[in-house]
Amino acid sequence: MSRRVLLLEPNYKNKYPPLNLMKLSQYFRKSCGDDVRFFKGNLKKFAAQLLLEEFFSSTKKRKTAELFGAYFEDLINFIMKGKSFYLDAVPKLRGTDFENFLADLHLQFKRGDYPKFEIICVNSLFTFYWKQTIDTINFAKKFLAKGGQIYVGGIAATLVPKEMQADIGDSVKIHIGLLDKPGDLDKNDAVIIDTLPPDYSILEEIDYKYPARNSLFGYTTRGCIRHCDFCAVSTLEPQYKNYVDIKAQLQEIENLFGKKQNLLLMDNNVLASESFSQIVEDIKICGFGKNATYIESDEYDLAINNLRKCFNDRAYIKKIIRLYEELEKKLPEVDAGQFHSARAENFLLNFISATKEKIFEFDTIARPLFQKYFKHGKKFRYIDFNQGLDARLLTKENKGEEKIAKLAELNIRPLRIAFDHYKQCGIYEDAIRLAAKFGIRNMSNYVLYNFHDTPEEFYLRLRLNIDLCEELNVAIYSFPMKYHPIREPKYFRNRDYLGEHWNKKFIRAIQAVLNSTKGKIGRGRSFFEKAFGKNLDEFNDLLWMPEAMIIYRKKHEKLAAQWLKDFHALKDFEVAEAKKIIAQNKFSDAEISQAESENVRQFIKYYQITRND
Ligand code: SF4
Repeated sequence: MSRRVLLLEPNYKNKYPPLNLMKLSQYFRKSCGDDVRFFKGNLKKFAAQLLLEEFFSSTKKRKTAELFGAYFEDLINFIMKGKSFYLDAVPKLRGTDFENFLADLHLQFKRGDYPKFEIICVNSLFTFYWKQTIDTINFAKKFLAKGGQIYVGGIAATLVPKEMQADIGDSVKIHIGLLDKPGDLDKNDAVIIDTLPPDYSILEEIDYKYPARNSLFGYTTRGCIRHCDFCAVSTLEPQYKNYVDIKAQLQEIENLFGKKQNLLLMDNNVLASESFSQIVEDIKICGFGKNATYIESDEYDLAINNLRKCFNDRAYIKKIIRLYEELEKKLPEVDAGQFHSARAENFLLNFISATKEKIFEFDTIARPLFQKYFKHGKKFRYIDFNQGLDARLLTKENKGEEKIAKLAELNIRPLRIAFDHYKQCGIYEDAIRLAAKFGIRNMSNYVLYNFHDTPEEFYLRLRLNIDLCEELNVAIYSFPMKYHPIREPKYFRNRDYLGEHWNKKFIRAIQAVLNSTKGKIGRGRSFFEKAFGKNLDEFNDLLWMPEAMIIYRKKHEKLAAQWLKDFHALKDFEVAEAKKIIAQNKFSDAEISQAESENVRQFIKYYQITRND
């Protein structure tokens, strides 16, 4: 019998769609024939929306849905808050039976009597999203049917299961590790969930847009041969798996969900694979060889086809409504008006009143317009080993030249190489030179900081990339990654950890610069030197500089020059006293008054300056 399944991702901002929930969706929908629903967002609003949708889903309420569906935001607000002015915004509602039903739905909402699901799966990501994750799991209990089960899996659940269990209670089952064994969820079921193609349709069900949604995702290996102290891979994927054949899975994804522009491979250490050459050949077969291009799929056609196949109607009705809206924006004004009126006549202005049948009837009007106004040109597509490559496996002894030559057969962009420690400079630099020699021009690297490194080593690693860009005429983007201990009870729930050579002010200074560069540092020397300083001395000044002067450089230029003069004029004992206070990155009057020297007290007042001063 079909079960009602709810897949939830906590409402943090993340770049990549939740692959494990997408595979679970495929498992429940295709293998078990269950009714699957995905949500990420405000859970209270979701509960109100479910109540309204369930009310409308009865065929007897069809007329009501057609009349009032366009006002579903007001209706949902009323169900949540019970304020009558939300209903005033809905024409012809007052005095109808529906008004009374809405009052009942509001009471039902207030009682916490939400629609129920037999299975609820919640994904967890980084441990520093602890509060959002725990709150989501605990809230999910309100959606659980009697006799049902909530499962939690993913990274945080695998890393600290005991601590999580303590915060969510014993009724919730924690799944540790991958879903790579038969019977992982349903005993006696032979399907290995991890091998299923992810169900991209669930991404159409929510309003949140994952930045990397137009990509294929996969793994050609699992795990890693190393056990770096700062890394969670040895816990998450303890066995190194040398080869995963991605060809059939990627083909199935494209058949079901259309062509995707890029291929993001989440391998932790692909260069360690004995099947590396085979993996590159597979990627070429999948359409990502040198100079690879693709033609975008027709999203409208795809959505209609999936609706005809009854594959996730909820998602594709929403998708069609969104596509109509996009089309309307492209149409000349008069045509847009006519198109809108035609949609209104067919109750196709919103997903509440829209039906598949009406969408199919409307196809004769919509399809020619989509064909005329949505062009599907040829575009380049790229493959990205997103977790980075291990430069230690690109040395001469490890046949680095052979491996880079193989990688150069792909449309790889960027080539990411990990640059975790300053002492790896030589190996890292050799790997970049090798890549440049084989014509790979777009590169990137992860720069771990706040671990055992010093701020100076952090600066020198970034500067090395600037130097290499100029010398080799390549583009190297650096992505600084702040270290967080993943298991230490004191720190895993937050982002407060400070490495032995770092303090709160230094971390804020780096983050202030990175905020303006969207977290990455590009190739321009002049930009880099403005952002981080021309040399170590200037970088050191930047670390101690008041935050407002770092963020609002231009505005506070003169003030910053005065601050610098005063900073350098402090006597040694004053510098020591001032740094002790500044390192805490708290600048209230109480904090300032701790300084013994009047000179230091005056100097610290620079740190109370805000954007508007
Ligand atoms: S090489 Fe990379 S993936 Fe492997 S353990 Fe070290 S940091 Fe993790």
